[in-house]
Formats: sequence, C-alpha cells, structure tokens
Amino acid sequence: MAIKVCKFGGTSMADGNVIKSVKNIIDGDMDRRFIIVSAPGKRYSGDIKVTDLLYDSYNALVSGGDFKKAFAAVKSRYVSIVKELNLDFDIDSVLEETEERIIKERSEDFTASRGEYLCARIVAGVLNAKFIDAENVIFFDENGALNGEKSYKAVAEAVKDAPRAVFPGFYGRGADGKVKTFSRGGSDISGAIVARAVHASMYENWTDVSGFLACDPRIVDSPRRIKSISYKELRELSYMGANVLHSESIFPVRRANIPINIKNTFRPGDEGTLILPTSRYTPCGNIVTGVAGKKNFTVIFIEKSLMNSEVGFIADVLNVLKKEGVPVEHIPSGIDTMSLVVESECLQGEKLNRVIEEIKQSVEPDVVRVIENIALIATVGHGMSSSVGTSSRLFSAIAAANINVKMIDQGSSEINIIVGVSNNDYEKCIKAIYREFFV
Ligand code: ADP
Ligand code: ASP
Ligand code: MG
Repeated sequence: MAIKVCKFGGTSMADGNVIKSVKNIIDGDMDRRFIIVSAPGKRYSGDIKVTDLLYDSYNALVSGGDFKKAFAAVKSRYVSIVKELNLDFDIDSVLEETEERIIKERSEDFTASRGEYLCARIVAGVLNAKFIDAENVIFFDENGALNGEKSYKAVAEAVKDAPRAVFPGFYGRGADGKVKTFSRGGSDISGAIVARAVHASMYENWTDVSGFLACDPRIVDSPRRIKSISYKELRELSYMGANVLHSESIFPVRRANIPINIKNTFRPGDEGTLILPTSRYTPCGNIVTGVAGKKNFTVIFIEKSLMNSEVGFIADVLNVLKKEGVPVEHIPSGIDTMSLVVESECLQGEKLNRVIEEIKQSVEPDVVRVIENIALIATVGHGMSSSVGTSSRLFSAIAAANINVKMIDQGSSEINIIVGVSNNDYEKCIKAIYREFFV
C-alpha cells in the first residue's frame, strides 16, 4: 500500500475547528498514515504564533521577567483548542508538567519545542493514533547537523506496528542528549525525514496557500500558482526567501525521489504544487518559474589592480571571514574587483569594522567599500538557460521601474539570476519582474 506522509503547518493547527478539518483530510485517504505537526500559528492577522509566545516565555525566564504571565498565554491557546475539540485529554496536567520541565531545563530550544510537542499530543488524541516523540527518533550530530541515517532507522523502527502515528515537528535530540530545534520553519524538515524513513510515495505539505506561487503573495496580489517545479528550482526559490517550504526540507526526500505536494488545508480540493526530480518534471512552459528575495544584506566591495594575477587573493579574503565565523552568500567578481555578499545580521556590532580592518591588512586592497541595506532578488527557471534574451528582459523591466541595480550574480547553475537592489526598492522590483514574465 502506498504511504503518504502529511505535515500540517501552524495555521492548520491554529484552533480546534481547523484541527477538525485536518482530521477530515486525514480520514479521507487511508494512505495518509504519518502526520507531522507544527505548533499552533496565527488565528487572525495580528495574532501571535505559539512558538513566538514560547520564545517570549524563555526570555522572561532568563531575564527575570514575568515567566508565569508569558507562559499563561501559551497555556490558554491549548486549553481552548482542547475545549473546541471536545477532547477527553487532561491538558491541565500536561501543561503543568511542561511548565515545570521548562523551568528545570532552562533551555531556549527545549522551551520552543514544546509548541510542537503539545500540539502533537493533542492531534494524536484526536486521531486515536500513536504519539512518537521526535526527541527519541530525530538526531543531530556533534556539529549540529542532522544525523540522517540514525534518524531514518529510529523513525522506521518506531512506526513498525503503528497504522497511524503523529510526530511533533521542529525538533530532535542533539549529540549532548538535549532537545535541539531546527531553524524557524523547521517542521518541514521533520516531515521530509519521516517521509524518507517510511519510504513514502508522497510527502504532502499542508499549509494556508494553494501551492507554491510564482512570487510572495504578500507582495503581488494572487500570483500565478506553479503547477510543477523541480527540486532544484525549489531549492533556489526557498533559499532565497520563498519560505512556504523550508529550504533544507528537500534533502531527505530528493535522495529517495519522493515527490512533495504542497496543499491548502483550507481548500483541500485544490491541486496545489508538485515538486519533482528534474528528470520527472514537466516544465511549466514559462521561461521563468518564480521570483523570490530577501532583505538586509551587506556588500563588501574590494578593488585591487591585477587582483586576478595575485595567487591566493580570494582565499586570503575568505580566510578573514572564516576566522570571524561569517558565512558568505555570494562572491560576484571581475578582473580587478570582487564583492562579498553577507547577511547583515552576521556582521553586527564591531564585527563589520573588524572584518574590514583584517581584509585591509591581509590583502592591501586599493579600495574597500561597504554597501548596506541591500535586498537580493532571485529570478529562477530551467527555461532561462535555453532562452535568449532573458537577462535583457529582466534588466529592462527593472530599469523601466526606475530601480538602480547594485549587484548582479548569475549562478553557475544557469537557472537563476540574482540582483541586488536597495531594501527600499525590494517590493517594487519583485512586482516589476513578476509583471514582465507573468502578466
Ligand atoms: P506553515 O505554517 O503552513 O508552515 P508558512 O507560513 O511557513 O506556513 O508558509 C506559508 C506562507 O508562505 C504563505 O502564507 C505565504 O504568505 C508565504 N509565501 C512566501 N512566498 C511564497 C510563495 N512563493 N508561494 C506561496 N507562499 C509563499
Ligand atoms: N513552530 C516553528 C516555527 O514557528 C516551526 C515550524 O512552524 O515549522 O518556526
Ligand atoms: Mg512553514
């Protein structure tokens, strides 16, 4: 029998009524056997996600604030969910135990993980399914990276006799034996791990939009839905900010060729988006598949005559960043120039000045200039490599919108072109590119 693994995101867990629709979705297909849930998300715009309430609670706990009050907001979310579901579940005792353990552990990751833990216990009750705690089946190594093989084995063992099981997303166990979370949005990764472990035929990712859209729906009104997209395009778009799916969630499933289907909990009949291996997917017919971007980058521009003939120049520059522990996103370069594109968050405090000083000492450049408040926008599509004139259309559209391009990087994968513009032009630039290729 085919096995479908289903991950339900925060809005799909936001209140008891949505959880009832989730139960209908699961009951509607016998193949939907393994469920991964996020913590309850926003019920309305302006509401606060449970995970954010938990981070607030942890901050109150360690900074001498009112932890009890902050955690009361978390408790009331779960108490009303259980009430709305009319569930025979002693939520008060479970919350009490959880509160005690948070105080005892005093760990940010542990506190944040309780959003998923509590939600999965409730959903397991609703579905009458086995609850499998992620801390017993998902493992990280000493470097904090996923220990895939160990996790797949443990998940497969845990589900052996379970017709249906529910896992909390977002966390696992670190090499030190303590609960550790993925980065934000990480329940998508948990779902992919379970899909790989049980040899799923499909990884369904249920969210609040009817699929992967050609750009962020918060910037362009009702953008076109992408029917089918390759893992490669998905990786580029999600890494660059299309956070409907966590960018690391494709790794476990890609290896096993498991397709991902993005579906809408609030419109379950909609087709959604299918994410497939490049060899199996049918291109959408459009030159560009999608556009995504992120704000707040810093560009360090370096110029030195004859840079290219100086052996080890780039390595010396990169060594400075390595020493300071700063990851580099892109390195566009010319004959006598190179730029380092770095997330501004990684250069806070005195770090930026230190990096500049060390670069000056290490390679004695003619010029070093820092450009801040840069947004990066990626235009992605397999069709781009085979179609002449795409970049000229892209840059004409940006120029026509009166936007100054501060940096260009064409990825060597040939399926994307990245432009850097001022943060202030971010939304305008996405709109201009969308208009050019999709309207
Ligand atoms: P979940 O809680 O289900 O994991 P997320 O909030 O993480 O949901 O992701 C869904 C949201 O991603 C959508 O509501 C949408 O606002 C946003 N989003 C950003 N870019 C895109 C895109 N290209 N396509 C679809 N949704 C997008
Ligand atoms: N609840 C976590 C977050 O808000 C993980 C997730 O939703 O995937 O980031
Ligand atoms: Mg998400």
